[in-house]
Amino acid sequence: MRSVSRTSVLTFAAALCVSSPLFAQGDLDQRINREADSLLATYKHLHEFPELSTQEKETSALIAADLKKSGYEVTEHFGQYVEPGSTSYGVVGVLKNGPGPVVYVRTDMDALPIIENTGLPYASHVKVARASGGEVGVMHACGHDLHMTVFLGTARMLAQMKDHWSGTVVLIGQPAEETVEGAEAMLHAGLFTKFPKPDYVLALHDTSAVPTGKVSWHAGPLLAGADSVDITVRGYGGHGAAPQAGKDPIVIASEIVVMLQTIVSREMDPQLPTVVTVGSFHAGTKHNIIPDEAHLQLTVRTMNPQQREKVLAAIATIANGLAAAAGVPSERAPIVEVAKDHVPATINDVALTNRVGAALERALGKENVLAGEPIMASEDFSLFALADPKPPTSMFWLGASDPAKLKDATEKGVRLPGPHSSEFAPLPDPAIRTGVKAMTSAVMDLLKK
Ligand SMILES: [Zn+2]
Ligand SMILES: [Zn+2]
Repeated sequence: MRSVSRTSVLTFAAALCVSSPLFAQGDLDQRINREADSLLATYKHLHEFPELSTQEKETSALIAADLKKSGYEVTEHFGQYVEPGSTSYGVVGVLKNGPGPVVYVRTDMDALPIIENTGLPYASHVKVARASGGEVGVMHACGHDLHMTVFLGTARMLAQMKDHWSGTVVLIGQPAEETVEGAEAMLHAGLFTKFPKPDYVLALHDTSAVPTGKVSWHAGPLLAGADSVDITVRGYGGHGAAPQAGKDPIVIASEIVVMLQTIVSREMDPQLPTVVTVGSFHAGTKHNIIPDEAHLQLTVRTMNPQQREKVLAAIATIANGLAAAAGVPSERAPIVEVAKDHVPATINDVALTNRVGAALERALGKENVLAGEPIMASEDFSLFALADPKPPTSMFWLGASDPAKLKDATEKGVRLPGPHSSEFAPLPDPAIRTGVKAMTSAVMDLLKK
């Protein structure tokens, strides 16, 4: 499955370092096994007591305490949100270990507003008040608890195995990934200037598409860029029995929803993945009233800035064109607003990712390292690659599914609950041990003496 060049890189690398890395691998396994119970207990605790985006107070304190215990120089509450006076719970741990490159490893820390439905003995029962009233459950449904546990395990391994590498590691606990505020908050506060300047930035994300014990990776585009778009379709309301007297925004908005589907199917390059989804359509109050307005909410997923501009322009053209065709005057033209919460696509640096991939194969064995696939979800990890000094970044997938359940689901063609599902239940062992071995090996390869 792998290309010839990757194989030859692997052979060359293996020939270069026959003795000490092989010794280190066995040593690493033993050390990970010694920490396994403690890490599993940490995982279960984090899972049971999740905190929503921007609220990661206890979670970040746990991360900071563990990093300190491992010998890292730790800064807490790092980050600056747009909203003045708000606290960011970002954590930065630095371990300097002689001359060499600076490698950042990032974990996210936040959970999602979901009522957990896994039935696990360590399931979350946390509920918090909603700003809009009532309460909502909180769940680590994206596996950020798994990311944090692997991160802490990696921190422990790197501290214990300082003799095997030279350079600096900077471990960052990022808040508010799910609301795509946290990376920006840490960068805005001077992450890359107040701490050692990064040469490489690494992360992992769990996936239900890969069984535990395995990882997968993909060089190039990994995750899509995301935009939220609001369209207010304005007509002229009136009595439902006299449609000829008004301009019905519900009919116009309905036409817009249908016509938007042609952006992907007729306007975009079929080889470049694009998503335009209308996730919300609200209008009206009563059977016999034509409202003045209809509201649409869209999510748009693209892979590069040019593609993004084209899709956003097409959305505006369709909305304006269909309103005009319905006879809506220009002063009542639709209002098309692109929200500020844009995140760009996550692009894995090709050279770095190939190097990390080779290190993963050496550490885990080729049979446990799969060809990863890009998906149209989004991450604010992408922002680290765009901030000065624009370091190469790479994220790989950590298998989280029970292998037997995944095999069964694949054979039957049924859905296995994945990230953002109330039933998503990663199998923490061996996922944690695999993740720690994978990330530690990737960092030590970049910092090898
Ligand atoms: Zn998520
Ligand atoms: Zn996530």
